[in-house]
This record gives sequence, C-alpha cells and structure tokens, in this order.
Amino acid sequence: MKKMFFGLLAFVTLLIACSDDQNFEQDQVSNVDMSDFYLYTDPVEAGTANRVLNGKNCVSMEVLNRKLKEDSELYQKMYNIEVKSRKFANSLKPGNGNGNGNGNGNGGGGNDGGDDTPADDGLGTINIPVYVYVIWADNSQNISQAQVDSQISVLNADFNDTNFNDVNPLYADRGANVDINFQLATTDRRYNSRTQWGLNDDVKSAYPAQPGHLTIWVANIGGGYLGYAQFPGGNASTDGIVVSPQYFGTNGTATAPFDGGRTTTHEVGHWLNLRHIWGDGRCNRDDFVSDTPKSDRPNYGCPGQVSHCRSVDLVENYMDYTDDDCMGLFTEGQKVRMRAVLAPGGPRDEFTGN
Ligand SMILES: [Zn+2]
Repeated sequence: MKKMFFGLLAFVTLLIACSDDQNFEQDQVSNVDMSDFYLYTDPVEAGTANRVLNGKNCVSMEVLNRKLKEDSELYQKMYNIEVKSRKFANSLKPGNGNGNGNGNGNGGGGNDGGDDTPADDGLGTINIPVYVYVIWADNSQNISQAQVDSQISVLNADFNDTNFNDVNPLYADRGANVDINFQLATTDRRYNSRTQWGLNDDVKSAYPAQPGHLTIWVANIGGGYLGYAQFPGGNASTDGIVVSPQYFGTNGTATAPFDGGRTTTHEVGHWLNLRHIWGDGRCNRDDFVSDTPKSDRPNYGCPGQVSHCRSVDLVENYMDYTDDDCMGLFTEGQKVRMRAVLAPGGPRDEFTGN
C-alpha cells in the first residue's frame, strides 16, 4: 500500500514538473525575455526638488512607488501585463508573419528604423470615451468648456498624427499614428473648498473613476506638480489621470510653457503603459521600447540636439519633460506598447469593442 502511494506521488510530481516545463517552453517560444523588467522603486531617483525647480514635473513614478508599497499584489499584476505586452509586440515584429521568426535583428548603427515598422495589429481605430471632472475651489480652477474641449482636440491630434516635419529629422521616420480617438462623454463640475489635492489620490476618493471611461480629474495638485497617471494593473476606483488646471488644454487658464495640452498627452501615455523615455534611470535602464534612444535623464525646455547615452536624445517625444511646443511624436514602438494594453485580453481591452 505504502509503495503504491509513493509510486503515485512520484507520478504526480512528474506531472507537475512536466506542466511547469511546458509553461516555461511556451514563454521561450514566444521570445518573451523578461530579464530587464523592473518597476521604478528607487527613492533617491524619486527626489522631486530638481524637477520642480526645472519646471515640468510628472509624478506618475513617485505615485507608482507608493502604490507598490501599499499593494503587495501590484508588482505581479504589472509583471503579467508586461509579459502579455511583449508577446503582443513580438507577434507584430516584421518577418514574424504567422510563424515565429527570431525577430532579433538589430542594426547596430541605430540609423535605420524603416524596415522595423511593426505589422498592423488589426484592431483598427480605437475609441476611448472620456469623463472629465473639473474640481474647483475658485473661478480660476473652474475652467471653461472651451478649455476642456481644447484638451480633447490636442489628444486627438497627438494620437492621430501623420506629419513629423516638426521633429528632429533623425527620428521623424519613427513617428506613429497611434490611431486612437478620444470622445468627451461628460464634463462633471464639482465645487470643493479644498484648493490643493496632493498626490495621495484624495481627489479620487471624493470623486471616483468612471468605469469604461478614461477618467481625467482636472484638479489642482499643488507643489508645482503638473500631473500624474495610474498605470494599467491598478485599482479601478483610482484609474485615470490627474492634471492641474493651469496645465490642461490650450486656452483659458493654461499657462506657458505648458499650455499646449501635452501634459495630458504625456499622462495618457502612462495610462496606456508607457514609461518615461529615459527609463527613469541610468543608461542601462530602458523604457521597454526598442525604437526610442536611451538616455539617463529627462530633458527640459527646448534643448535642441543633445546626447547622453551615445545617441541623440529624442527630446520631441511626449514621454520626455520638454516644453509643450517642442514635443511632437510617439514612436512606432510606443504605439505597439500602448495598443497592447487595449488588445483583447489586455488590461484596457474594454475600449476595443472585442
Ligand atoms: Zn510622466
């Protein structure tokens, strides 16, 4: 009897071992390499003083750090989303067709990109309904409908761009039409005597996110902060982006040099899983996008052509910190990464109608 039990145990153990191997092999077949994955958790890098002094300052990564500490399951959720996103990107690599090529050829010189344009993902134009809260304590925060509308116009222009003459010619051929439309569903105005909302999602506790919508809280964060976003994988009730009213839209109270609506474009990029273009770290840290050059820092103002990690920085990218007027593109690689979270089975697939 005992012998039989141990025999059975050995058999079950063998089965478990086999299925583990199978999962491992499936990942290998899909060429998903997760060895470089990390989430930004370095408190030193999170210091904000310089960024505030320098002007543009998005605090999405700082907020992510806090959420990772508060929610022990968030890391694994974001890891799983990353695996899916990389599989999606691999499936669109040129030459992958319906079989699996190795998809690993990189040119070394970093000067071409045309041959690397990903295949069409077949999802078509994606329509995202937008719910805008205007949370106001005084008239300057109660922005006009025209200011709200101007922001929606900027989002639609930036996510449907086809002309990249305004960016460094070195990178113009990497510009992407992301093919996402944003449709304003509701502008919900709420008076609240609180004048600053900080970074702890208090505004979201008071006015919860709207399911099925990109929720935008236009609320004064304070402290010189422009905005922050929640990455895919977080809590549904706090999902969306927060932008201070003086950096929202292009008219009314919008304040130069951040009066081009690009703070919201940048935050929606995070909401669709884009990292900062410099990878929030040194040259060896990456944004998980292959056609964006590496850098070890954000750029500010309109710096022209600058190099930090043996390549020219893509300072016109929406995921840098440059002035609104100097920004002008998402890349093809960023497009794939954003649309991956909208694809069937992705964390934001409710918007694709699949
Ligand atoms: Zn950011």
